[in-house]
Amino acid sequence: MPFPANLAPVSADWKKDLSASVTSPAALARVRPVDAAVLAPVCARYPMRINPYWLSLAQHPLDPFWRQAVPDRRELEDQAAAADPLAEEAQSPVPGLIHRYPDRVVFLVSDRCAMYCRHCMRKRRVGRSASTLREAVAAGIDYIRTTPAIEEVILSGGDPLMLEDAALEEILSRLREIRHVKLLRIHTRMPSSLPARITARLAAMLGRFHPLYVNIQFNHPAEMTPEAAEACRRLADAGIPLGCQSVLIRGVNDDPDTMAALIRVLLANRVRPYYLHQMDPVQGTAHLRTPIETGLAIMTALRGRIPGIGVPQLMIDLPGGGGKVPLLPDSVVSRGPETWRVRNYNGEIFDYPVSGRPGEGDGD
Ligand SMILES: *Cc1c(COP(=O)(O)O)cnc(C)c1O
Repeated sequence: MPFPANLAPVSADWKKDLSASVTSPAALARVRPVDAAVLAPVCARYPMRINPYWLSLAQHPLDPFWRQAVPDRRELEDQAAAADPLAEEAQSPVPGLIHRYPDRVVFLVSDRCAMYCRHCMRKRRVGRSASTLREAVAAGIDYIRTTPAIEEVILSGGDPLMLEDAALEEILSRLREIRHVKLLRIHTRMPSSLPARITARLAAMLGRFHPLYVNIQFNHPAEMTPEAAEACRRLADAGIPLGCQSVLIRGVNDDPDTMAALIRVLLANRVRPYYLHQMDPVQGTAHLRTPIETGLAIMTALRGRIPGIGVPQLMIDLPGGGGKVPLLPDSVVSRGPETWRVRNYNGEIFDYPVSGRPGEGDGD
């Protein structure tokens, strides 16, 4: 593999790593061949943060670490798309809490990340506000407490694991006190973006809030370094079911071989692929977006090549807040009255009997 696998310094202190992050174009230009003058206006609009762990892995402009973290002047050239195409702000009854589906909410408890992904769906806000969100978090908890339909709370951001253990524990405890909240879920990139954050102490703390699910983001198999694997192991050993929400990114993972390799490495580390996201049409990300057909072609290629438990759902998120919709490659070739004609994973055609009588079910 042309990508550096294990160049990352093992760090015992994630906060030290964070404060040693590269956040200015001038600092990046000192360690990597970039033009600080070109990157300055990009970083002024969409912040950059590359922590030492991720930087050690980003060696070359074509590698997946570089592409996901190093700003690109094309981010400013993308003016057509909307900043918030999913209408998240319009669906926020209180700031920082998105209530789209009746039974679950996305609770944005941090606006910060250990690394700012260039493909971020919340580019409009992440890394930009000055506040600590403390008041918004209190208002969000109040809303959840007074809305009995909410059965699941998904902590997101930013990255919820940017909060210190005590602050996170406080939020989880408050949510656990609410009788109608059955499930807790955390969406974080820390196992891949800064694995040192997943301390034994954090894993043990999270393990006290079951049922608690953690969905992480890995986009390329090289992200599963020994440090990242250890972070996943700690969470899994704390009894936390791990899912992966990958984003299809041009030049990073938009081919079946890379995706199959990513899935194998996730399964080997007890992470179950959950969603493969078509990148939302968010302003500033057009140069990284793939056509919808690319995702479908990858899904077609995966079928039969990897275990069923490793096949993620390809998701699009509808503009205007319509919600997520899974897309599947068409396997039904034609529908007759007696048989359907179906294509298998090898492209071979079979007839399948249409049994049962439509309209004559027992119940209706
Ligand atoms: C994606 C999303 C969820 C969670 O969806 P799942 O399909 O349960 O993973 C919930 N609310 C909003 C607003 C979302 O965008």
